[in-house]
Amino acid sequence: MYDPLKLSEEIEKKVASKINGKIYRKYYRFRPARFYSGCSSADTCGCNLRCVFCWSNDLAREGEIGKYYSPEEVAGSLIKIAEKFGFKQIRITGNEPTISKKHLIQVLGNIPLKYTFILETNGILLGSDEEFVEELKKFDNLHVRVSLKGCNEDEFTKLTNASPEAFNLQLLSIKKLLNENIACHPAVMVSFSEKENLEQLRNCLHQIDPKLAKTLELEELILYPHVARRLKAARIRYYTSYAPSAVPQEQI
Ligand code: SF4
Repeated sequence: MYDPLKLSEEIEKKVASKINGKIYRKYYRFRPARFYSGCSSADTCGCNLRCVFCWSNDLAREGEIGKYYSPEEVAGSLIKIAEKFGFKQIRITGNEPTISKKHLIQVLGNIPLKYTFILETNGILLGSDEEFVEELKKFDNLHVRVSLKGCNEDEFTKLTNASPEAFNLQLLSIKKLLNENIACHPAVMVSFSEKENLEQLRNCLHQIDPKLAKTLELEELILYPHVARRLKAARIRYYTSYAPSAVPQEQI
């Protein structure tokens, strides 16, 4: 088991670098994507979790690959793709974009307000850093998608092998975003969850704010070959298509 906050610090050293007062961050691709009805996307390198279902490959997740980009270069590449394809939305995703807060804030400062900026995160650093969410509130075009790793602490640890307390940091990030009136919605990986756990999560989100339960997005497992290998090694049961009454599959 590991502490995601400590892992964040280790990974940040591998994927962020200060050059002439600017924070450069490693990315492995810039691309048009079909999500959110079409969006310009940048994929970062380096994550502070080790989810068993992760679609990112090990080298990208560990920050071992990728190229450093300045905040202006990141914003410029995203805007260029958005202009080419007529997208109104820009997104940073892949691994954990909140590692290196200063870089992220500098990228956001270079994105024109006419674009909605979608930040996809596991929320752990937003929940743990007292000032992070407050610093984000000045960006009126921001929407944050917080992807919960399981429906409760036990599921979180089963899926990530991280210390269970970090699940509450994920929930705390959502509370903080709501308190600062930043647009956000939760998502949750459900392919490993029992129906009652999902219902408990819905209730928990409803208590934070009724609209959260309504906007909860269900994420499902995609069995890429490297994901199948990880699941086989971990011997974790999952639903191939989320239907809680179905018999879960087991990789053995
Ligand atoms: S938080 Fe996302 S990128 Fe990081 S390990 Fe989990 S699924 Fe992969």
